[in-house]
Amino acid sequence: NIEVRHVLTYEASEPPSNGSTGAISLEMNQSMIVLPEDKMQPRLCDERVGFFSVEMTDYGRDEQKAARRCYITRWRLEPSDPEAWARGELVEPVKPIVYYIDPATPMKWRPYLKQGVEDWNEAFAAAGFKNAIIAKDPPSPEEDPEFSPEDVRYSVIRYFSSPIQNAFGPHVHDPRTGEILESDIGWYHNVMNLLRNWYFVQTAAVNPEAQRVKFEDEVMGQLIRFVAAHEVGHTLGLPHNWGSSYAYPVDSLRSPTFTATHGTAPSIMDYARFNYIAQPGDGVTNFMPRIGEYDKWAIEWGYRPIPEARTPDEERPILNRWVVERADDPRYFYGRQSGARIDPRAQNEDLGDDAVKASTYGLANLKRIVPNLIAWTEENGKNYDDLEELYEQVVAQWNRYAGHVARNIGGVYETYKTYDQEGVVYEPVPEARQREAMAFLNREVFATPTWMLDADVLRRIEHAGAIERVRRLQVGVVELVLDPQRLARMIEAEALMGDATYTPLEMLDDLRAGLWRELARGEAIDPYRRNL
Ligand SMILES: [Zn+2]
Repeated sequence: NIEVRHVLTYEASEPPSNGSTGAISLEMNQSMIVLPEDKMQPRLCDERVGFFSVEMTDYGRDEQKAARRCYITRWRLEPSDPEAWARGELVEPVKPIVYYIDPATPMKWRPYLKQGVEDWNEAFAAAGFKNAIIAKDPPSPEEDPEFSPEDVRYSVIRYFSSPIQNAFGPHVHDPRTGEILESDIGWYHNVMNLLRNWYFVQTAAVNPEAQRVKFEDEVMGQLIRFVAAHEVGHTLGLPHNWGSSYAYPVDSLRSPTFTATHGTAPSIMDYARFNYIAQPGDGVTNFMPRIGEYDKWAIEWGYRPIPEARTPDEERPILNRWVVERADDPRYFYGRQSGARIDPRAQNEDLGDDAVKASTYGLANLKRIVPNLIAWTEENGKNYDDLEELYEQVVAQWNRYAGHVARNIGGVYETYKTYDQEGVVYEPVPEARQREAMAFLNREVFATPTWMLDADVLRRIEHAGAIERVRRLQVGVVELVLDPQRLARMIEAEALMGDATYTPLEMLDDLRAGLWRELARGEAIDPYRRNL
């Protein structure tokens, strides 16, 4: 390998520091290795199982068109003892996946990051491997004088002392085969604030651990472990599976035994977050997602060797059989991430198989949090910044619940299939579900959310702004429902199905009846509703 370090100076119109120089200097490291001479056998993509991929046009194939080829990205895992593996024993791979902890990482969080990495061994067991993925502390200069987080030969969980509230999990792969060669996960210090906010707003109503501004280290450690496992999942080749959480019935998420073993969704790669459905008295104590049935299945599908197949095309019928065998089980459903979120099953930040029911429980919990916000953030000598931040989190969460329900209206289920499977790929959301969604919006979103308008809280954080805040959020939901693309889908559904769907006219009638409800009844209209 070759490592090149250099300092590059660029002209900059808005440099982050030393503005008068009009320049920015960056230290760069280029790390180069030769691609493997012995190419890994690629595995063909399948849109029914989520994997990051590498695409190419292969003119060498005997096809009468410019044929697109798509290979999944994955690490090269080969059984160290193929005979034992073939007998069904768990065997170690020839070369395990190794992650080093960045030497800059605070000591107390290192064990949790390592757990988040090694949690994936449970999934690799489904493909017949043990000790497939290992987390290590950074080597000392005596142990390995060449170690550097920038060096492509080392995969590292980088730690950044930064106010950014995020983490990421990319990888570098062989463009010929999709073989993942290296990965550097990044986590920013302030992702802890993001985790605090989510865990608080989603679980504090029923979870004493979350009823405070600063959590116990063990609680934050488990939250960091969750983020680490999610990001590691990306670096194993798995994209978000936003459709995963739809597999679990809402009522199961109120069960202490179910949630203790299943978390909140079959995939940690969903944006499933924490259990906001559990109600006081349910006795739920595990609120976090974990590596689940879908993750194990996806790793098995992508990583289980198929020794009898000598080419990617020979693997195809076997891979297809594995998918078709599980296609009727929602735990193995892959719902891709998309900006438009046309399929309401595949949404971020949602839980359960029924958005109206889930959001109703979630709202009931938010209504329990607001009267406690002051007590749970209280500290002598402190100003109200934390109160303001967590109040805004309550409002944001309410907005998420509204969106989860609203996207059922004019929604279309997208279930990728092949010819050997029953049914169509695209189906409108059932009519009754769309009607229920609109009724929920009229009841919980367009009606004034008086529970949120707590003067004790508001008058500690702002001189004014509540009326405008409610208007802005409500208008956002009206605009979401009246999105021209959504209406176009509803018009097309009516054109093809007639009255057997929720028609745009019925939807607009229901929306109008809700927004102008007081006129029909001769009731007074409050300032929030006048503003809407
Ligand atoms: Zn992610």
